[in-house]
Amino acid sequence: MIIWGFGRERVELGPAQARECGHCAHRRPFRHVLRYRFVHIWYLFCWVTEKQYLAVCDICHHAVPQDTQAFEAALPRSPIPFYRRSGWVVLLGLVAVVGAANYLRSRRSEPVEELPSLASAASCQGEPVAMSARYLSFSRT
Ligand SMILES: [Zn+2]
Repeated sequence: MIIWGFGRERVELGPAQARECGHCAHRRPFRHVLRYRFVHIWYLFCWVTEKQYLAVCDICHHAVPQDTQAFEAALPRSPIPFYRRSGWVVLLGLVAVVGAANYLRSRRSEPVEELPSLASAASCQGEPVAMSARYLSFSRT
């Protein structure tokens, strides 16, 4: 069963410069806030679907959207946690590991089907046939 869903997060990024608030019509202190939405599978494998940087008035909470690319260029690192931002990479890696394990397992099981030819080769070299048959019975269990 696949459990999937979506969510919203809000990250406080600290104080911003005081500016004229369009809603209060006064010079007010502002703070930067990031709002983002994400989708998840099993709550572990996430990716961000929408993000918006805002300057929020401390008095009336009126929000002014900021230019996302310019704002992120000024940040030292993304404020979104890694598992929310790139959890899908973990899912991709897990699928690759399971696929590689299945591929290796299928390759390993192929020589078992060639055992009768080994038994016939052993009997041609003078080995007793009963011993080869016993070997085959052990390998099948
Ligand atoms: Zn305001």
